[in-house]
Amino acid sequence: MSTPFTILINGSRLLLVFLMGLAVLVLYWSIGEFRKEALIVFLDVGDGKAIAVRAPSGQTLLVDAGSANYGPGVGAETLALRRILPTLRSLGFHRLSVVLVTHPHQDHYNAVPFLIKEWTPVLFFRPPYTVREPRYLSVLERLQALPTRIIPFFRGQRLWLDSNRGLYADVVFPERKPFFLPREQEVNEASAVLRIVYGKVRVLLTGDAGKKAQGCLLAKGENLRADILDVPHHGSRHNLEDFLRAVQPRVAVISASGRTPNGPPDEKVVAFLKNIGSQVWITGLMGTLVVRTDGERVKLNAEGIAGRKPVDRLDLARSLRSDVSGR
Ligand SMILES: [Zn+2]
Repeated sequence: MSTPFTILINGSRLLLVFLMGLAVLVLYWSIGEFRKEALIVFLDVGDGKAIAVRAPSGQTLLVDAGSANYGPGVGAETLALRRILPTLRSLGFHRLSVVLVTHPHQDHYNAVPFLIKEWTPVLFFRPPYTVREPRYLSVLERLQALPTRIIPFFRGQRLWLDSNRGLYADVVFPERKPFFLPREQEVNEASAVLRIVYGKVRVLLTGDAGKKAQGCLLAKGENLRADILDVPHHGSRHNLEDFLRAVQPRVAVISASGRTPNGPPDEKVVAFLKNIGSQVWITGLMGTLVVRTDGERVKLNAEGIAGRKPVDRLDLARSLRSDVSGR
């Protein structure tokens, strides 16, 4: 016969078993949620661009990595090895599966040679046109010495980063037809434009696509709508209002220091984005932006890039909602 004491013991055991069961369930659920989580990281690289994607499968995509001006005494090697790599490692990146440079301008690729020395990519997407820029050609030479497959990017390609969970990147620009670009400024207009899709969430990456390229996409009737937009050309004046309106992003990320006199972003572009209801994030002023999504919900966090002060979180709370889902 049980005494009140043993009943109490049995009751405590029951409670313990219940709590342990609950903990296992919570752990199982959290691991499941974690396994669904994709990361899109807009790195603060000063006046340049670097965007990294990690699928739940662990496959990764790096779109651009370079800067024209990160800070005094910081060269491309320091940027790559002391800033970009530690930041990505701390966010759970362990490799670079695919690297794509949107166009051969230094502020988009000068950190790439140092990154690929650490993490050899399986695939490298190159522009589908002839490039005469010697520094860029030396990057290609380095890649050719690696077991990396090098292929041109062009509209119509789909890169699956996680086929089980349905995460992919579509190249929406430029067209396949190879062409030669004699004038340096035209290179921007042939920037790769990528749409990353994960469930209901869409992210549009645009390199330095200018008004010509944006007009071309509008003329094609491309569905440009995206939750998050990597604003073309660092938010400079080379942005079409019609293009920004067609994207109608909840969050507009501008990769720029925001501190260079007469440099981007352009005030009118920022004001226009705010007018259409976008939250504007300037990486150089607000820090590295980490987007976490399960394909339904989107969560945003600021991270201080390695070696640089973290962002003032109070400013952040004022300037950005934490959830952009539910459109
Ligand atoms: Zn640029």
